[in-house]
Amino acid sequence: MSSESAQCPDNTADMAEKDSRSRKETRRYCNFCLIVSDGDPEAEILKKNDELVCFKDICPAAPHHYLVVPREHLESCNTLHKGHIGLVKRMAELGREVLREQGVTDMTDVRLGFHKPPYTSVHHLHLHVLAPSSQIHKSMLYKFIPGSVRFITVSYLIKNLEDYRNHTCTL
Ligand SMILES: [Zn+2]
Ligand SMILES: [Zn+2]
Repeated sequence: MSSESAQCPDNTADMAEKDSRSRKETRRYCNFCLIVSDGDPEAEILKKNDELVCFKDICPAAPHHYLVVPREHLESCNTLHKGHIGLVKRMAELGREVLREQGVTDMTDVRLGFHKPPYTSVHHLHLHVLAPSSQIHKSMLYKFIPGSVRFITVSYLIKNLEDYRNHTCTL
C-alpha cells in the first residue's frame, strides 16, 4: 500500500466522495502525509526540501513519472487560492529540476499538471510530472489531457488562480 496505487483502477470517484465526508478520516489515512514524513519505506523519494517532496509515481504512465507534493496537507487544486500561486510555481520548479537530474533534456516535451476532483485518488495535493509527454502510455493518456475534465496543467491552474482573486478556485 503506497502512494498512487489507488489511482490505477478507474473507480476513484466513489472513493473520493466517501473520503471527503470526513476530513479527519482522510487525513488519518493519507498516503502522501505518510510519505512526506518518511513513513513509507516503499516510496522512492528523489528530492525533498522544507516545503516539498518529490517521489516516483507507483503507477508510471511515462518513462519519467514523478509526483511533487507539499508537506502541508492540502486537499486538491480546488482548495487553492491566489495565495498558493507561489507554491504551485515552486512545485513545478522542483518537478523540472528532478526531470533534469534524471537525464531529461527536452524540457519542451514534458507535462506538468494536477488532477481535478473527483478524479483524484489521493486527497493530498500532488503535481504529476511526466516526460517525455509524447511517450505517455496510450492506455493512460486520457488521464493527462490538458484542459480535459480530469486534468489541468500548471500554467492553466496559475491563470485560474490569478483570475479567481480572493475566491476559492472553482475549476
Ligand atoms: Zn496528506
Ligand atoms: Zn493524481
